[in-house]
Amino acid sequence: MRLGDGGTGADCEALGVTSHRNEQTRTDGLRALLKEHFGYDEFRPQQERVIANALAGRHSLVIMPTGGGKSLCYQLPALALDGLTLVVSPLIALMKDQVDGLRANGVPAACVHGGLPPSEQSEARRGALSGRLKLLYAAPERVNAPDFLQFLGRLRLGLIAIDEAHCISEWGHDFRPDYRKLAGLRSRFPDVPVMALTATAAERAREDIVRQLRLDGCERFVSSFDRPNLTYSVKSKSRAWEDLLEALDARKGESAIVYCFSRRETEELAERLTRSGHRALAYHAGLDAEARRTAQERFIDGEVPIATATIAFGMGIDKPDVRLVVHDTLPKSIEGYYQETGRAGRDGQPSDCVLFFSEGDSRKHLYFIRRMEDEDARGAAERQLREMADYARLRSCRRKRLLAYFGEAMEGEACGRCDVCLTERQATDITVVAQKMLSAVIRVGEQYGVAYISNVLLGGADKRIRERGHDQLSVYGIVGDYDRKGLRAVAGEMESSGLIERGEYATLKATPAGREWLRERRSLIAHAPAGAFAPMRTGRSRSAPAPAAPDRSESGAPESAYDEALFASLRALRRRLADEEGVPAFVVFNDATLRALAARKPATPDAMLRVSGVGPAKLARYADPFLQAVAAHQARAAPPPSP
Ligand code: ADP
Ligand code: ZN
Repeated sequence: MRLGDGGTGADCEALGVTSHRNEQTRTDGLRALLKEHFGYDEFRPQQERVIANALAGRHSLVIMPTGGGKSLCYQLPALALDGLTLVVSPLIALMKDQVDGLRANGVPAACVHGGLPPSEQSEARRGALSGRLKLLYAAPERVNAPDFLQFLGRLRLGLIAIDEAHCISEWGHDFRPDYRKLAGLRSRFPDVPVMALTATAAERAREDIVRQLRLDGCERFVSSFDRPNLTYSVKSKSRAWEDLLEALDARKGESAIVYCFSRRETEELAERLTRSGHRALAYHAGLDAEARRTAQERFIDGEVPIATATIAFGMGIDKPDVRLVVHDTLPKSIEGYYQETGRAGRDGQPSDCVLFFSEGDSRKHLYFIRRMEDEDARGAAERQLREMADYARLRSCRRKRLLAYFGEAMEGEACGRCDVCLTERQATDITVVAQKMLSAVIRVGEQYGVAYISNVLLGGADKRIRERGHDQLSVYGIVGDYDRKGLRAVAGEMESSGLIERGEYATLKATPAGREWLRERRSLIAHAPAGAFAPMRTGRSRSAPAPAAPDRSESGAPESAYDEALFASLRALRRRLADEEGVPAFVVFNDATLRALAARKPATPDAMLRVSGVGPAKLARYADPFLQAVAAHQARAAPPPSP
């Protein structure tokens, strides 16, 4: 949003006398840089204030969720400041992508790391010394080396940005000793303003960052953790494969990450997906460095759209157009889950996060946690797992719960963009079938799981049932109007209402509350999606209205009415240009920009420049091929009348 409304930017610059006008001038100046070097028209929330703080020479601590737009907070001041901006970043892959992106936008940037040929290293150093370079990226190991510190001493530093600053803290989830040593950089350059950035939510980690870097009195900028373009849903793992294919089909050709439990599972799933006609690659910590690098590159370039991954697939991935993040297994904590889902839709475009949940997965984690030696760690892990499983079982708005976890209150009860909010729920009286189920649980001695109990209730011809004489029980074959799936849903409902619980091998047991409920003949009303308990053989349709894919045009996409055929051909063009230049596709334009182009179909360079994501540098480089592609598409769509 614009501050003030006093005329055009040019007028204000000419007049810039009052403080109001100065403010306006500064705002317009920053905005001009934003358009000029990044092609964007508006700042995201907080960005502008963070930037102003850095330009005023003050320290900042910036907390923004993944995809919130942290990089711009130091990249833009780097352009406005006189000196060089040093960016400390933990991973070479990240630095490389950022430098590629900046250069494509005409910003002089470079990185130094051990993997570079000496000629490029000295080129970068020369650029920094001559004052030509605006941004220099380096890993903390490098920054802490005495000769590099000495080299920095010969430069004029305008700003020190420390990305992924939680790595400094043992309370963060990714402690790195080299980060801790950055305190040395601080003592060496006490007067250079520092900007520490992270997406961590842990309060202790934040405090640690401030203390370790001695940023006393720094401004703190904490953004909302809400990611409005993400839709969260949880589905039963029992149909995971079918639902996964459905979700991937809905996002055909777009990027997806599927998080799996183990290395083996990532490999099996990638293979299975490939056999079903989806291009997928497996990514995990067991790959050697070279294999990892190629896997990352193929994924980031969009050559292979699907990565099946363990959580090791993380910080190195800064791909803005991931449209789907699937958890095939229950994450161990909400914090981790939120980080991982945060990799979807960094470009602000509507994207989906799907979690496949089973009580079995939760027990599997618990099994490992219970074997942990350290008592404190075990307690913490159990608590985190419980929070995660509670989230998965939730029957109220998921976004509200996630935000509450990060200490943020959401207004109202429903976000309208999670599966719970998007699914019509109805109250269903399941008292009678629940009574039958609980009786069966008790009569078979609380020693069997839900499949066996269902079989008894349905009067199944299982040999074991006969051998144990369970076909003689009064509950045998007593249920005629539910199928297995319906009974499983009933059991789930009874479990979350506290009437039954699961024992060691998933055996169902009656709780004291359950026995009382049965004795007093109380009722049980389930609030579930229409059809979840739809009885069998009554002629009613059993297919619940699918909550799965919300209408994407409703989820706030600014360019919802874009031309899909044109978008596809612009994507192909982007691919070709990116290959020619040897950069990831999003360095040319990101998906949001391609969609905007496919919606507005610019015919002139001016019109193209007005599209968000197109700045002068990219216009100069790409106007010709893209305008030609649009024109060719228009000609195909509506051939001009013959003369
Ligand atoms: P983070 O580091 O916080 O995870 P990034 O800095 O990678 O996030 O930004 C995420 C995406 O948002 C990038 O594709 C970036 O180009 C885009 N972005 C950042 N600021 C803006 C803005 N003001 N307008 C539009 N897109 C933006
Ligand atoms: Zn919701």
